Parts: sequence; structure tokens; C-alpha cells
Amino acid sequence: MSCVFCRIARKQVSSAQVYEDEEVFAFEDINPQAPVHILVIPKKHIPSSLDIGQEDHALIGRLFQAANTIARDRGVSERGFRLVMNCNREAGQTVFHVHLHLLAGRPMHWPPG
Ligand code: AMP
Ligand code: ZN
Repeated sequence: MSCVFCRIARKQVSSAQVYEDEEVFAFEDINPQAPVHILVIPKKHIPSSLDIGQEDHALIGRLFQAANTIARDRGVSERGFRLVMNCNREAGQTVFHVHLHLLAGRPMHWPPG
């Protein structure tokens, strides 16, 4: 089991956990890019958004619902927050286990860098 996010979801690697249910896990990003920077991941190993299958539709919906729950809990849902999923090299994906970045707590610029 070489995937660091699988290991985090199984608590074999420590993380600052913020949320867990049967299918989803969330933790603080180790290198935060905003006052709130949380990674929301499926416990199932899916390498990238390109690998999301028909059977994963409900799971991906749960990923977004978990992100919404965390945004509300952190008190940023009204102000606003950004959900980002990088896919492959030019987008900057470095960990090949699907994750939503939940970013909030400062104004977000557009277009993104
Ligand atoms: P991405 O570049 O979209 O693949 O995002 C990977 C994110 O994972 C980066 O923001 C990293 O800071 C974060 N990251 C990598 N390893 C860890 C870890 N062990 N614990 C928490 N965050 C991590
Ligand atoms: Zn994994």
C-alpha cells in the first residue's frame, strides 16, 4: 500500500483529521494555501478524476456533501469557499488519489494561477 492518502484514510499515517464517515475522510493540508485548506478524499483509491467510474457517482456526490458540511462547520459557507480537484501534470496534481481541496478564509482570485 504505497498511496499516502490511502494510508491517511486508514490512520496508518497521521493527519489532522477534520471529518470521517463510512466512505469519506478529510484532513488539514500539510502545506496550507489559505486560512482554511482541507483535503476531502474518498476512502476508496481512485487515482484521478479520469478514473471516476459509473459505480463512483454516489461516492463523488458524498465527497461534495462532506465538503459542504465542513465548510458550514468552519463558518465559511456564507462568505464562500473554493473546491478544486487537480487532474494530471499541468493542473499540478501531485498525489494520485482523488481529493477535493476545500479552500477558504481569504478572497479567491480568478483566473486561478
Ligand atoms: P495536488 O497537488 O492537487 O495533488 O494536492 C496534493 C496536496 O496534498 C498538496 O496540497 C499537499 O500539500 C498535500 N499533502 C501531501 N501530503 C500530505 C500529507 N501527508 N498530509 C496532508 N497533506 C498532504
Ligand atoms: Zn490511495
